[in-house]
Amino acid sequence: MKVLKFGGTSMANADTVKRVADIVNAESVNRFVVVSAPGKRDKQDTKVTDMLYALYEYRRTHDDCTPAFEPVVNRFSEIADKLELFRIDGFDLKGELEKIKYAVDGGADRDYVASRGEYLSAYMFAHLLNRPFADAKEIIRFDASGNFDEKTTFELCAKKLDAKAGAVIPGFYGGMPNGAVKTFSRGGSDVTGAIIAGATGASVYENWTDVDGFLSGDPKVVDGPRVIDVITYRELRELSYMGAAVLHPESIFPVRKRDIPIRIRNTFNPGAKGTLIVPTEQVLSGKIKREELPLTGIAGKKDFLSVQIEKSMMNNEKGFARKVLSVLEEFGLSLEHMPSGIDTLSVVIDKHGVERAQIDGMLKKLNESVSPDRMEVIDNIALIAVVGHGMNRRKGMMSAITGALYEADVNIRMIDQGSSELNIIIAVENCDYEKAIRALHGLDL
Ligand code: ASP
Repeated sequence: MKVLKFGGTSMANADTVKRVADIVNAESVNRFVVVSAPGKRDKQDTKVTDMLYALYEYRRTHDDCTPAFEPVVNRFSEIADKLELFRIDGFDLKGELEKIKYAVDGGADRDYVASRGEYLSAYMFAHLLNRPFADAKEIIRFDASGNFDEKTTFELCAKKLDAKAGAVIPGFYGGMPNGAVKTFSRGGSDVTGAIIAGATGASVYENWTDVDGFLSGDPKVVDGPRVIDVITYRELRELSYMGAAVLHPESIFPVRKRDIPIRIRNTFNPGAKGTLIVPTEQVLSGKIKREELPLTGIAGKKDFLSVQIEKSMMNNEKGFARKVLSVLEEFGLSLEHMPSGIDTLSVVIDKHGVERAQIDGMLKKLNESVSPDRMEVIDNIALIAVVGHGMNRRKGMMSAITGALYEADVNIRMIDQGSSELNIIIAVENCDYEKAIRALHGLDL
């Protein structure tokens, strides 16, 4: 059994939906299908989910939501008309739209309104394919505090999906114990797909998107990155954390725990093999074969700040690192890396979403609480992760990396080799970021 999830670009218009139908019908394997709301048809277009958030905002200041609802109606009606869904018995898009309008005019909450894109997308697709429709609200559950409730969800899936073999399920949302709808964060249909794959014990979770797979480097920075054939969950985690995202980060856990592989596929190039994401042990033990490359991929992010703290005899001062970390905690800053020397310790902090006042407050408090001999702040640094299980078997990795950066005239501000030798993190100035990524991606090992 497989679970197939199709993203917003795959569900964007009648033509793309037809492609999706062909993909789903191509194999006779039993499969559940999870769909997103229609996404952008071109760069200028608006995603249905964004229209729905705008609809919710509009309704807050108007009694009748008609003008803001119209684009949603038009979008779905156009798809349904082109697919001639009105010919299908029991298909009642008008009725469904009326129910939603009634709820929105009646003051429905934000998550309910946002979830209707996925609901209608799955409703239409189930009719097109003549498959059962399973409302995510009935099977995906959150607890009263809004956390995903895996136990109840898995029980509900076992109970309800058995009777709905091959069902089409809307992504992105689930139900609260009080019956209200709650959404995951943006892009959350990936999470729904992973949950359904985990709950049904799928042999593979196929995530169909609009790229050929996970790339070895950012195509906006490097020329001709290769599609990674097989990547382990741990490598994926390292690369996605550094910004190379194809999947919602939370979509990994429900399948990873159960050793279910994910395959990234391209709806617009279904012949491509895509990227297979597999449990780390299966690659390390040789159960899954892949090309022996020392590096699997490279990714990075700009805008970090490093604070280098120096104090002689630091190693003898008990609780020194704890004091530093509690200052970070006090100012709501999370630690990314902490390279250390005998009398030095650095903390690297991600500046995204951080206010200047938090940084200033942290620096002042650090001075007070650990009384350093010297403290240097290096602002605007970029971190680059060079990732691959193959690295620990390869001699001269570090010299190749530093050599390539030297040749590219890039100054290295910090190096941190992860304890598992799965990754090497290199810090450079923001302005050297692209140059460094290109130099490392071009390494001929
Ligand atoms: N439609 C939702 C969004 O735009 C969820 C998804 O597509 O995965 O974020």
